[in-house]
Amino acid sequence: MKEIDISLFPEEYFTKELLFKAVSRATGIPFNEIAHIEILHRSLDSRRSICYHTHARVFLNGEEIITQDYHSPYKDCHTGLRVIIIGAGPAGLFAALHALEIGIKPIIIERGKPVEQRKKDITQIVRTGNVNSESNWCFGEGGAGTFSDGKLYTRSTKRGNTTDIIKKFIEHGADPSIIVDSHAHIGTDRLSGIIATMRETIISHGGEILFGKKMNDLVIKNRRVTGVVCQDGDIIEGKAVVLATGHSARDIFELFFRKGWTIESKPFALGVRVEHPQKLIDDIQYHGANHSPFLPPAAYSLQTQVNGHGVFSFCMCPGGIIVPAATSDGEQVVNGMSNASRSSAFANSGIAVTVSPSDLPEYEKYGPLALLRFQQDVERRVSQAAGGGIKAPGQRLTDFCESRATGLLNKSNYMGEYVHSELDIMLPPFVTQCLRQGFILFGKKMHGFYTEQASLLAVESRTSSPVRIPRGENGEHPMLPGLYPCGEGAGYAGGIVSSAMDGVHTIDLIASTLTN
Ligand SMILES: Cc1cc2nc3c(=O)[nH]c(=O)nc-3n(C[C@H](O)[C@H](O)[C@H](O)COP(=O)(O)OP(=O)(O)OC[C@H]3O[C@@H](n4cnc5c(N)ncnc54)[C@H](O)[C@@H]3O)c2cc1C
Repeated sequence: MKEIDISLFPEEYFTKELLFKAVSRATGIPFNEIAHIEILHRSLDSRRSICYHTHARVFLNGEEIITQDYHSPYKDCHTGLRVIIIGAGPAGLFAALHALEIGIKPIIIERGKPVEQRKKDITQIVRTGNVNSESNWCFGEGGAGTFSDGKLYTRSTKRGNTTDIIKKFIEHGADPSIIVDSHAHIGTDRLSGIIATMRETIISHGGEILFGKKMNDLVIKNRRVTGVVCQDGDIIEGKAVVLATGHSARDIFELFFRKGWTIESKPFALGVRVEHPQKLIDDIQYHGANHSPFLPPAAYSLQTQVNGHGVFSFCMCPGGIIVPAATSDGEQVVNGMSNASRSSAFANSGIAVTVSPSDLPEYEKYGPLALLRFQQDVERRVSQAAGGGIKAPGQRLTDFCESRATGLLNKSNYMGEYVHSELDIMLPPFVTQCLRQGFILFGKKMHGFYTEQASLLAVESRTSSPVRIPRGENGEHPMLPGLYPCGEGAGYAGGIVSSAMDGVHTIDLIASTLTN
């Protein structure tokens, strides 16, 4: 057995005979002596001639082919020490799975519904335009990660092992090929089944998941958090409480503010979703070589600085769909998702501008909730401009950048109604100025990106949390020992993988205090 680094053309990567020939050529091993080639890592490079850079294991005839075992060593936790986890998003679910590995009994409290029922509520949102405030694109089993794009990569690798997270997705039904991808993707159509299988693992090993249960207060005894109070009056107690409620649980931030428990205002980003024909993005990124059946729909990543603000692409979805992701009626929010096949004719991406408390002196009076109030005000203004429901307002990219009131719209793959409205009337001037200049710079970096075929839809506002719930080195809230703020809502993660890693990290911190 031999491990090699080899660059392969897409047709070599995907055709067994061509793959064996390329490896034989690169290693000098005769073609007919190669028994099996296992790709361990791959990344697509389309800068010049398009190829996959890979790391591969070559097995020769007669050698034993070792296959990966994705089974985790969960313990029976029916009688283990109880840890309460609020929220069944990636942070909460991965915290629960890790708790089972070390013998702690996780009890998840989730305001939304199991994924099967949540799917029906999401269909209703699209059908009626009314948002169910407890079961929507952000709330319910799997959290904001369920009906997401399922891109599984993160730049924040400091807090854990991304491969462990991907292995757990495979263990619960994801395609094993995602382990080799530098930009792994699951797709929304596969995620719901995976989340349901995670639920089965948790329950069969002694954990509990209580659906339709909304935490709305903490139980504090002798200055220590010992449990939670639910909206229905139930009190649930445990050795520690993990708060993994995500960045859209505004009622949790309001609760902390009301009670005087420390929270902090934190920079976040706000902008629009841009949508292009996928073919156009393929043409740009693959330099016209996009007719190869071996190439996936192309992605892009863009960033620049304008007037001291970062302007960047966010959650880019090749072959994607734009979805309404608000959590209440009267607010308008867009986000993106795609199926495993990424087969839609559109590419979409958030293009967001960083927003800091110093950009909004008029919101200072709201203290730590300043940016949350701003986020809420923008979402309401955008909803009004569109005419309510889940209507998304917007205009063509070129019309917006050149301040032209043509009233024209391109076809869009938004799940609701897309209506013409000028972004200048709903977004603050510092955001629209940064977006305008940013789009023009992106058009120079990526020729063809700046085109009247591109559409802008508002508003991309749930990029990250505008509030931080602080924690010390030991993971506990400084005023509330026993409470462990965790995941994206606490401001310590962004995205599926980093939230999941934060859940694992939090359980490790809890375990170390429980065993001391
Ligand atoms: C449409 C869409 C597409 C996305 N695509 C991607 C992607 O491709 N890749 C990626 O990395 N990220 C993506 N994201 C972001 C990603 O989903 C989030 O970063 C991630 O889910 C955050 O995980 P979390 O567990 O911290 O919080 P969340 O996923 O927000 O989960 C929080 C959970 O807590 C529950 N909850 C809230 N309040 C309470 C309460 N009071 N009591 C009980 N339960 C409560 C909620 O119902 C929810 O289930 C996407 C998000 C959306 C909306």
